[in-house]
Amino acid sequence: MGTSKRIVVIGAGMGGLAAAAFLAKRGEDVLVLEASSKPGGLASLLTVEQLTFDLGPYILLDRAGLEWGFDQLGENLAAHVQLVQLEDIYQVEYEDGPTVQIHRDLATTAAGFDRLGQGAGEQYIRFVERVYAIYTRLRPLLYTANPGPRALLRYRALDLAPFLLSSLSAILKQSALPHMITDALSIWTHIAGQEATEAPSLLAFVPALIHYNGAYVCRGGIGTIPIALEQVAKNAGAEFRYGAKVRKIHCAQGAVQAVETGDELIEVKGIVSNASPMSTYMHLLGQSPKRYVRKLQRLPLQSPGVAAYLAVQSSSDAHFLRFRLPKQGHCRLLIQPGVADPSRDGTARLLGPVSQEWAEQAGESGQQAYLDELIAEQWWRSDFAQARPVARRVAADLGREFSLFRDSMNPVMTRRLMLSGRISHKSRLVNGLYFAGSATDPGQWVSFAAISGILAARELLC
Ligand SMILES: Cc1cc2nc3c(=O)[nH]c(=O)nc-3n(C[C@H](O)[C@H](O)[C@H](O)COP(=O)(O)OP(=O)(O)OC[C@H]3O[C@@H](n4cnc5c(N)ncnc54)[C@H](O)[C@@H]3O)c2cc1C
Repeated sequence: MGTSKRIVVIGAGMGGLAAAAFLAKRGEDVLVLEASSKPGGLASLLTVEQLTFDLGPYILLDRAGLEWGFDQLGENLAAHVQLVQLEDIYQVEYEDGPTVQIHRDLATTAAGFDRLGQGAGEQYIRFVERVYAIYTRLRPLLYTANPGPRALLRYRALDLAPFLLSSLSAILKQSALPHMITDALSIWTHIAGQEATEAPSLLAFVPALIHYNGAYVCRGGIGTIPIALEQVAKNAGAEFRYGAKVRKIHCAQGAVQAVETGDELIEVKGIVSNASPMSTYMHLLGQSPKRYVRKLQRLPLQSPGVAAYLAVQSSSDAHFLRFRLPKQGHCRLLIQPGVADPSRDGTARLLGPVSQEWAEQAGESGQQAYLDELIAEQWWRSDFAQARPVARRVAADLGREFSLFRDSMNPVMTRRLMLSGRISHKSRLVNGLYFAGSATDPGQWVSFAAISGILAARELLC
């Protein structure tokens, strides 16, 4: 056993890194134990044949949230990463149908919508203005640990309860926009392998965020953000060990005592787990109450899908994000970061989002076969003079690489889960145990995971 008790952070994903940096900056003795070989988890960088790819994330839709996270660390985001604002943000192509384009500029986007339906542009502008006003009022809740009705009351937002209780599809229906437009606006639900009827109303904020706050990539990749956070934490004195998988959390009298890696038992005075709460309760703690475990097992999960990382020679009219909605089957996505970030010229990624249910039924061999099918399709090749896969990942690969619970990235953000509350930062079962990361409030973007790390660390210090 070690001689002094420290705070151990399990996992160096976005949530763990933000928590470690926050705690170290407040003078805590912090040790980060990360099972893989590098920081970032799903948001890490992948380098193959001297080409750098983002393993998972490709777009930042909440710059303000990420800035808040860095502010809380006493750091300026812009001093650490160079954000590049996107003008032509994404397009959704329907098989045998029109293409819907979303630009940074609201008027340009609305003008495009007018070509798809009479008056659609004006309807869209009204919709975006309405949801942005709601977003502005609800924004403080983003920085509140596990906000509930009391937080709504505190921020004088109780009148927004009906909005919060609605599904994304109900909110989009109120806009009266043609369905091909509402489908394009709810494309992020396709990415999560869910229906807009199950998705929370909060996803309606995305178009407003795009037009009012902008959408961004990072020069060099979104994976430069966790690298920056790791540096901030190290500069503040946090120690990092890679290749250090935590196998067990030891407790006594309902409180954490130590963590066990393959070869060490480390005494702790607190733990922030960036491993999924499901893995933490079911695998690391081992003796969690059955009722709670059953509740965790029922959470709807989100698969990270399948991806091919490509070395490409792009044509001049390439697009940053091309979503493709076939008549049947899953949505596809082609990502070309070089369109916005010349440092990543020559790279592209073909992403195949799938539902967790599909991923589990298909198994690893089915996932690999599906990725082969996507690579063989012709639609995405039109952007390239040449394209060659240099790496591939299916959900099962990512599950092994990042110790993911049932190879899933987190509980998917459904309306029901938002209402019942995501997993809280402070464990209700074990003293001294806290959770950071996408499974906790506020959710599953890179910025949200960073916010979650700060909120978890704050709770620990309370
Ligand atoms: C394909 C894909 C596309 C995405 N696109 C976007 C996007 O465009 N924009 C966006 O904002 N977000 C996007 N995301 C989501 C974003 O990447 C995640 O929400 C975020 O990175 C999750 O961070 P996290 O802190 O929850 O932890 P994770 O990334 O899951 O990291 C957890 C870390 O803990 C480690 N760990 C787990 N168990 C143990 C253990 N027992 N011992 C030691 N270490 C352990 C893991 O190795 C890992 O490093 C995407 C994700 C994927 C997969």
